[in-house]
Amino acid sequence: MKRIIAVVLIVLFGLPLWAQNYERLRNNMVRNQIASRGINHEPTLDAMRKVERHLFVPQRSQARAYDDNPMPIGYGQTISQPFIVAYMTQLVDPQPGHRVLEIGAGSGYQGAVLAEIVEDVYTIEIVPELGEQAKTLLNDLGYSNVEVIVGDGYFGLPHKGPFDAIVVTAAAEYIPPPLIEQLKEGGKMIIPVGSPFMVQTLILLEKLEGEIKTTNLMAVRFVPFTRSKE
Ligand code: SAH
Repeated sequence: MKRIIAVVLIVLFGLPLWAQNYERLRNNMVRNQIASRGINHEPTLDAMRKVERHLFVPQRSQARAYDDNPMPIGYGQTISQPFIVAYMTQLVDPQPGHRVLEIGAGSGYQGAVLAEIVEDVYTIEIVPELGEQAKTLLNDLGYSNVEVIVGDGYFGLPHKGPFDAIVVTAAAEYIPPPLIEQLKEGGKMIIPVGSPFMVQTLILLEKLEGEIKTTNLMAVRFVPFTRSKE
């Protein structure tokens, strides 16, 4: 009997406590890792406080989901460090009416952060298992404005473009021309460029009156942008 009462008490009080704990970890993450490093775009900060990052990592690593680093998500891939997610989000200047393309859905976390701010997010993932997992999770969490597509993101999604912003979360040797083409006039793309398994450069690309302007931002380390064999 005592054991049953203990289980009931843990379920009644333990679960809300855990939820609160994660909320506290998220608020601390935003304060200590993101706002303190100069991210001041309120919609980005709000989204990072809201999206439950621990649900996007493997169960055994949930307690460390709000740490200041990237984490493995299986299939040799990683979920980016929280600061990098916020930095890339702020830099593409997402707005409520925007349509955004992400290449490299991975866990679906960056897609969820964008979906908190913009109208529509399309995210492409080349590893089918990760794509399906992200699709299920985003659907279960009620993100009806995110569409996960399994495939090679090199070609973008011409029939859904042009896009206000494009976020690439895998390191490419060069910026895929189809993605530049699918960026709206005035649109912004953020992409890590450089050799796989080495330090790459995070680049901001803007399309201004038909001209392409690129700005080198900082050294980063992302998983490689891979290509499908077909
Ligand atoms: N944005 C993700 C980070 C995932 S890491 C998150 O928030 O969790 C980058 C992802 O890009 C990996 O899952 C990798 O499989 C994927 N990727 C690599 N090359 C790709 C390509 N050509 N098209 C689509 N996805 C690709």
